[in-house]
Amino acid sequence: MEYVEPKVFLVGETRVLEEGLKAYLKHVGVPDWTSDATSDSELLCEVMGRLCYRSFEPGLNPNVTKVREGNGVYLNNILNVGHGSVLEHAVMNFVFSDVSRVFTHELVRHRAGSAMSQESLRFVRLDKLSAYIPTHIKEDENGLKVYTEAMEQLEEVQIKLAEVYDIDNAQTFGVKKKLTSAFRRVAPIGVATTIGWSCNFRTLRHVIEMRTEPSAEEEIRLVFGQVYEMVKERYPNLMGDYEVEMVDGLPWVKTAHRKV
Ligand SMILES: Cc1cc2nc3c(=O)[nH]c(=O)nc-3n(C[C@H](O)[C@H](O)[C@H](O)COP(=O)(O)OP(=O)(O)OC[C@H]3O[C@@H](n4cnc5c(N)ncnc54)[C@H](O)[C@@H]3O)c2cc1C
Repeated sequence: MEYVEPKVFLVGETRVLEEGLKAYLKHVGVPDWTSDATSDSELLCEVMGRLCYRSFEPGLNPNVTKVREGNGVYLNNILNVGHGSVLEHAVMNFVFSDVSRVFTHELVRHRAGSAMSQESLRFVRLDKLSAYIPTHIKEDENGLKVYTEAMEQLEEVQIKLAEVYDIDNAQTFGVKKKLTSAFRRVAPIGVATTIGWSCNFRTLRHVIEMRTEPSAEEEIRLVFGQVYEMVKERYPNLMGDYEVEMVDGLPWVKTAHRKV
């Protein structure tokens, strides 16, 4: 039995194909258009937004006599007017490890604009348990003792069941899978596991806002506070409107442009 902290890995992000973008810009009549975006995600959102009105430069659309210059100014206006769909074009891919099933149950409630792949506890046997200790448990010595003993007992149950059913010598993988799935029923919901989560920026913003709020659960607040720390400088024009207030030692990430 081991106590663990949740871990956030940013494993992927949107990439612009320069050749294709250049070909499109030539096609629309602005072969020399450039952006000062510092990430491909921000560049892509800007291009997708500007193509709506052909607002790459004044006069390209005869109705447009001036345009907002610069990626930051352009995306800030998108946030101001709430054109959140523009933010759906760029995506990020995260892996959250050593997170509990409490956390994953909450995360998967966010359906719009996200994709998940969750470690299967039908396939992956819980031969040892690891878990996060919530602050309130940590703060009380007696409580921590009860918590730890319960976790150790549940780990022991997993080991005993594996012995009783001799799972290592099960004849087929199908039998192993059935047994593993049966054993997980007596694992705690706090058991640490892994989930892969991909989302677009509109979704990312919404989930950060909802899940860093002080009324949200501690572990998901902790994780999305870390997510925010990872993305705020990487994508300054998509995430730069946030401010942080610390509540109970965790960041509450707030903005005037809530839920674009
Ligand atoms: C503090 C807190 C406590 C919670 N407590 C509970 C609880 O006790 N029980 C419980 O069941 N859940 C609970 N939840 C989960 C909550 O109800 C939502 O299911 C979860 O936060 C997902 O958010 P969302 O509804 O915005 O969905 P997302 O999938 O993140 O969707 C984003 C937005 O897209 C739109 N959208 C998405 N799907 C649809 C749709 N089908 N139709 C129309 N519009 C859509 C909505 O505007 C939605 O807000 C809690 C969440 C928080 C943050």
